[in-house]
Amino acid sequence: MKLGLKPFNSYDNEEESAATRVVQSGILSGFLGIDGPQFLGGPEVIDFEKEVQRFFCVDHAITVNSWSSGLLCALGAIDLEPGDEVITTPWTMSATAMSIINWNAIPVFADIDPKTYCISPLTIQKAVTKRTKAVVAVDIFGHSCDYDEIRKVLPKHIKIISDSAQAPGATYKGEFCGTIADIGGFSLNCHKHIHTGEGGVITTNDRKLAERCRLIRNHAESVIMSRPDAPLSNMLGYNLRMGEIEAAIGKVQLAKLPAIIKTRTVAASLFTELLSKSKSLTVPSIDPNYKNVYYMYPLLLDESICREKVLKSLGSHGINFLQPGYTNIHLLPLFRHKKVYGNSDLPWSLSDNTYSYEPGLCPVAESFHQKRLINIPLNHYHWSKGQIHELCRIILKSVDEAKSV
Ligand SMILES: *Cc1c(COP(=O)(O)O)cnc(C)c1O
Repeated sequence: MKLGLKPFNSYDNEEESAATRVVQSGILSGFLGIDGPQFLGGPEVIDFEKEVQRFFCVDHAITVNSWSSGLLCALGAIDLEPGDEVITTPWTMSATAMSIINWNAIPVFADIDPKTYCISPLTIQKAVTKRTKAVVAVDIFGHSCDYDEIRKVLPKHIKIISDSAQAPGATYKGEFCGTIADIGGFSLNCHKHIHTGEGGVITTNDRKLAERCRLIRNHAESVIMSRPDAPLSNMLGYNLRMGEIEAAIGKVQLAKLPAIIKTRTVAASLFTELLSKSKSLTVPSIDPNYKNVYYMYPLLLDESICREKVLKSLGSHGINFLQPGYTNIHLLPLFRHKKVYGNSDLPWSLSDNTYSYEPGLCPVAESFHQKRLINIPLNHYHWSKGQIHELCRIILKSVDEAKSV
């Protein structure tokens, strides 16, 4: 590769000895799908959850085998009725929207805020109907949503779930992302800041919601007989449990999170210093209310500049790993054709509102995706100062070249 970038890898002998300790114990999972102490998992899982609680200053942490599983639990836990609407952003990973559909609720997409790339409170306000039950806000690229504004535009009974997969350690007005909403959580998938290969953790300060998440994680339907006081709706349980090896490694990784964030922040500041020199580029905004942990470093091209030309020019200088655009989940074929559960029209047939997922629904997200955004994948590589200087030099040159042709 042109810049000699090395793939990001935070593993060393600490993770190795954590994994070895578990293998030598012979106990690779401590879970049982029946009521009793083992319903909550083995010693490493319990310990890891305690450390997550301590780190993020949150009352409950519930480990799962992926954050997609975590979202599934969270959406089930808030007691969705089939046909309820859940507002979310198109600028996320598909799992965010699938966790809504899974419970036969209807995703409603609100556009992103051009400054933060996160769901825009004003657009949320316009999307609220009598059927709205929740909002799934996503702290995208490591940047928090504006939770106070989101709360302000919503009726009180509407729950907020935060998908903080990309933002462990990010803060909003001094509070950790993932702990501000009713339920939140993080991904521990191998591309994220810290990882266990696959894994995730749900965080909440609400005891009842935590309890429901724990039930859905571990075969709720078969456990509930011995718990007459437990809820019944949406208590369709799965096996979404985390193994002991992942939990043991998770503890080591969590301890490394502050150092990883520091490295990302230092790299991002240098990118900002160098790239903000160009009038044709918008760098991530800096606001004292937010601590960004920079999963990605998004760059926005001025409207007058043709992204194709910039990419072509970057390519001619040997740079072909920058990512043009992000996602428009609302334009996935699943939504365009409204086809999910066999040939039924579920979940849309459960509501008499009309739903359209046509282009034009989220103009900011669409234009950023199609024309204006270039992402620097901070999460994929180790970045030296020299490499950042060299990449910025090439980016600035390519933007200039694109302007002149
Ligand atoms: C990675 C990611 C997920 C899914 O997490 P997994 O652990 O891979 O299932 C969900 N939402 C966002 C925004 C993500 O980046």
